[in-house]
Amino acid sequence: MTEHAPPTPNKPPADEADVIVVGAGPAGATTAFYLAQSGLDVLLLEKSRFPREKVCGDGLTPRAVKTLVGMGISVTEQDGWVRNKGLRVIGAGKRLELPWPELASYPGYGLVRTRHDLDETLARRAQQAGARLHEGVTVTTPVRSERTGRITGVVAKTADDGEDRTYRARVVVAADGNSSRLSVAMGLPKRDDRPLGVAVRTYYRTHRHDDDYLESWLDLWDGDRLLPGYGWIFGMGDGTSNVGLGLLNTSAAFGHTDYHALLRKWLKGMPAEWGFTEENRTQPIRGAALPMGFNRTPHYYQGLLLVGDAGGMVNPFNGEGIAYAMESGEILARTIVQAPHDRAGAGPVAPGGDGTGAGRLPARAQPGLRRLLCARPHLRQADRQADADAHRDQAQHGPSGPDAVRPQAAGQPDRSAGRRIRPAGQRPVQARA
Ligand SMILES: Cc1cc2nc3c(=O)[nH]c(=O)nc-3n(C[C@H](O)[C@H](O)[C@H](O)COP(=O)(O)OP(=O)(O)OC[C@H]3O[C@@H](n4cnc5c(N)ncnc54)[C@H](O)[C@@H]3O)c2cc1C
Repeated sequence: MTEHAPPTPNKPPADEADVIVVGAGPAGATTAFYLAQSGLDVLLLEKSRFPREKVCGDGLTPRAVKTLVGMGISVTEQDGWVRNKGLRVIGAGKRLELPWPELASYPGYGLVRTRHDLDETLARRAQQAGARLHEGVTVTTPVRSERTGRITGVVAKTADDGEDRTYRARVVVAADGNSSRLSVAMGLPKRDDRPLGVAVRTYYRTHRHDDDYLESWLDLWDGDRLLPGYGWIFGMGDGTSNVGLGLLNTSAAFGHTDYHALLRKWLKGMPAEWGFTEENRTQPIRGAALPMGFNRTPHYYQGLLLVGDAGGMVNPFNGEGIAYAMESGEILARTIVQAPHDRAGAGPVAPGGDGTGAGRLPARAQPGLRRLLCARPHLRQADRQADADAHRDQAQHGPSGPDAVRPQAAGQPDRSAGRRIRPAGQRPVQARA
């Protein structure tokens, strides 16, 4: 759809905001929280309704805890959070307990929380900060400028009435997870030269539910036969453990593995008293992909910014994605807020902006994004100056930033930047959740 499509009769007027964030998982909710906290008007569109399930290992490292605390979320045990002291690694016949390090910059503990609870907590926090959360709204199509190809909004179907509705904003954030249909519709498919994991998980009633270490299995055995993949057992503190395993696409077994059978074979070898049996299974075995190594780029393209799984931000070393989704959301929000005044000391342009410039990109990295925000009437004067600065920078240093380095037509992202990050024949990195 283009922005010049004729208005449909009898439709409600289009909703407008400074920024539209599509998807209210950890990435989208965090992005919306920081944007709203800075005074921008944010629409957060989510296809499901909270609380809702999400396939995950539910494990949070100190890195994730730091982002939660940074958003002012109480993570006490009274509020339902289960703490852990470190990571237990089992592999090659060894068992190591690695306590989380004591650091000034990170808390010394991790957490476990179901996504049912975690994602609702984050989404409500974004709402408290002022973001307008619309649940039951599935974004189907980008709205693009006929002239420039830039995204200027989205069309979405609402669960309440099944009607199509158009939302408009100068900047749109794709926080819609691994499949990121919005990115695909903008011509940004997944890159196949980056690692991708697939993992399954379920829950078992077990006395191990109160384990105070996250447990990671580096090799899985069926009797004396080594199985492909890596596994985890995370105690949920509610009488159950989250148990799962995953494979990377660098494994020879990837693409022709029955994950359910693999899980059962692995668990058959566990001590009987742990209770990982069919009778004790409390949930279906469900799986999903873990997009890694920035497997969708560029992260800014034609007015669309990618964050979290949409931008392939899961850590290939341990399968951790929540912390990176939230951290990238914060960086992205600060970048958007700072974009129209990218010179040091220029001061905040958005009401309530903190002016610290934390996490912002260099001036030359974002001329396209700045131009979009500059069109806001109350920002015009400062932004004319910023645009002039950007043009001077480009003249001095040559083109930079996604807009400048990608001269191809709308919908045809440049993939020349893609490089193999793992030489052929090298042992795959280990995926743990
Ligand atoms: C089996 C498994 C185990 C994992 N275990 C861990 C773990 O223990 N710890 C960890 O840190 N990470 C783990 N991960 C990774 C983690 O789940 C992801 O990295 C994380 O969820 C990414 O957050 P996100 O917000 O980017 O995407 P998501 O959590 O996928 O959120 C995307 C949101 O967008 C919404 N959405 C999608 N399409 C649309 C649309 N068209 N319109 C509107 N809304 C839309 C979805 O409903 C969803 O709410 C695991 C992943 C898997 C598959």
